[in-house]
Amino acid sequence: MNSESHSAAEIPSRLDLVQEDIRLACEAADRPANAAKLVAVSKTMPAAAVADAIEAGQRIFGENRVQEAHGKWPALRDLHPDVELHLIGPLQTNKVKEDVALFDVIETVDRPKLARALAVEMERVAKRPRCFVQVNTGEEPQKAGIAPDEAPEFVTLCRETFALPIVGLMCIPPQDEEPAMHFALLAKLAGELGLKELSMGMSADFETAIMFGATYVRVGTAIFGARVLLE
Ligand SMILES: *Cc1c(COP(=O)(O)O)cnc(C)c1O
Repeated sequence: MNSESHSAAEIPSRLDLVQEDIRLACEAADRPANAAKLVAVSKTMPAAAVADAIEAGQRIFGENRVQEAHGKWPALRDLHPDVELHLIGPLQTNKVKEDVALFDVIETVDRPKLARALAVEMERVAKRPRCFVQVNTGEEPQKAGIAPDEAPEFVTLCRETFALPIVGLMCIPPQDEEPAMHFALLAKLAGELGLKELSMGMSADFETAIMFGATYVRVGTAIFGARVLLE
C-alpha cells in the first residue's frame, strides 16, 4: 500500500474536515454555507472505502472511468438508492447506453456527436441525467472539453437541437497554472449562458473554486488518500 493512503477508519474524519473547509470557504466568499456541494471522487477506491463514506453520510460521488464504475456501483446503489452518482471522466459515443443507465449526472459532455447520442438514448429510455458541458479552459490539446470560444454555440446546440438537460459547466484547469483564472473564466461563461451550476475545484484548490462560485467541488485524495492504482 502507498504510505500516503488513509486507513479506512480515517475516511469519516477526512470527510468531516473537507465538509468543514467547504463551509468555511462558502462563508469567506459570502455565500450560503451549503452553496457548494461535495462530490466525493471515489475512482480507483475499493467498494469498501466507498461504503465507509456512505456510512459517514456522504451521498454524492464521482467516478471517472465508466468501466470501473459499472463494476463497483450497481451493488452499492442497490443498498443506497439515495446516492447521486456523477460521471466526471470521458464518455464514448458507443457506450452512452450504460452511462445513461448508471449515472444521475454526466459532467463531461463536450462534443456534438456525443450530445446527439446522449439525447437519443435519454429519449429511448425516458431517463434524463442532468448534464454539464466540460470546457477545456486551458485549451490543452490532450484534454477533453470544448474550447471556451466554442462553448456558447455548443451549449445552445445541446439545449435547442438536442434538448439535453444542461445545468452547468465543468472544468479541469491545467496542472501547472494558477487555477483561479480558469475558475473565473468558467464562472463568466456560465453567467453569460444563464447556467447555474459550476463544477470546479479538486483537493488542492476547492477553496479557491468556491471563491469563484463553484456549486460542486470534486474531491478525491483529501477524503480517500492517495490513489495507488493508475487513473
Ligand atoms: C480525480 C479527479 C478529481 C479529484 O482529484 P483529487 O485531486 O484527488 O481531489 C476531480 N475531478 C476529476 C475530473 C478527476 O478525474
